[in-house]
Amino acid sequence: MELQGLVVKEQSGFFWVEVGDGAVYMCRLRGRLLEDAQASDIAAIGDRVRITILDDEDHKGLVEEVGKRISVISRALRTEGSRGAGSPEREHVIIANADQALFVFAATQPVPSSKLLDRFLVVGEKSGIPDLIVVVNKIDIADRDAVDKQFAPYREMGYPVIYTSAKQRIGVDELTERLSGKISVFTGQSGVGKSSLLNAVQPGLGRAVKSVSQSTSEGMHTTRDSELVKLATGGYLADTPGIRTLNIWDVEPEELDAYFRELAPYVSECRFGDCEHRNEPGCAVRRAVTAGKIHRSRYLSYVSLRDELEEAFAL
Ligand code: GDP
Ligand code: ZN
Repeated sequence: MELQGLVVKEQSGFFWVEVGDGAVYMCRLRGRLLEDAQASDIAAIGDRVRITILDDEDHKGLVEEVGKRISVISRALRTEGSRGAGSPEREHVIIANADQALFVFAATQPVPSSKLLDRFLVVGEKSGIPDLIVVVNKIDIADRDAVDKQFAPYREMGYPVIYTSAKQRIGVDELTERLSGKISVFTGQSGVGKSSLLNAVQPGLGRAVKSVSQSTSEGMHTTRDSELVKLATGGYLADTPGIRTLNIWDVEPEELDAYFRELAPYVSECRFGDCEHRNEPGCAVRRAVTAGKIHRSRYLSYVSLRDELEEAFAL
């Protein structure tokens, strides 16, 4: 018998596949899938797969086919070093097919870093995740004007910004609604209130997500446990070690233009095709900054990330 399903957990070469009626089958990959050249992980959490049932009672199956991915957060595994040096060997898929990513900040405690948000957004844009959402928690203890000033520009760029307080249950309904029915990446620095927010969405959810992270962060496991945690309202939250340490190591310096969405439209108007938007004459990006069409802080983030990437790729 054949079924369609979703990979909800991956561990040591096994894939747990949830099928339409909610049953979960523990599957290996069909041998012939392993024979093709492997530029990327064959299956990962979030993949839509076709399985055959080997043993219905024991819930064992075989993955026959993996569907085309709509978005991928991945990390290039390289021949030498982990950054620019060495040619990419293979792509490790952290999560496939996430519908949205929510980047969680605290309005204060810790002070929110726009630079970190800009990094998250670069990862999100590169991954092709359709919706990138900013969550600003602890709004109950914030200076609202300062928060607006920092985050309104992102709203103008088209990124939804949600203000929440896990403590006073502000914005929790909106958050719950956003998460329902979707596969979501939910990440942010420690202490911003992720667990508290998840617990406000669904009792115990913060712990459910954390249990996976703790089992892997102790460094005792050599396997990468990854899991989609199911929500009572439908949908899933991704929990994998890779998501907690999202970084932009695999972005080439020239690629960065495309991932700053409000900067990208100006690039083709720069005088030089290889303009780095620093001191070149006729730079349309810097003109847009001066004219107030691109926020200066975003431009400064761009320059500083580009410096960092160039340094990494020069190694
Ligand atoms: P995590 O590390 O991102 O999971 O953050 P936690 O959920 O553990 O929260 C870190 C700290 O911030 C805890 O002391 C929480 O009580 C506090 N906290 C979380 N959410 C809020 C909030 O909305 N308002 C306030 N004032 N404190 C919060
Ligand atoms: Zn330029």
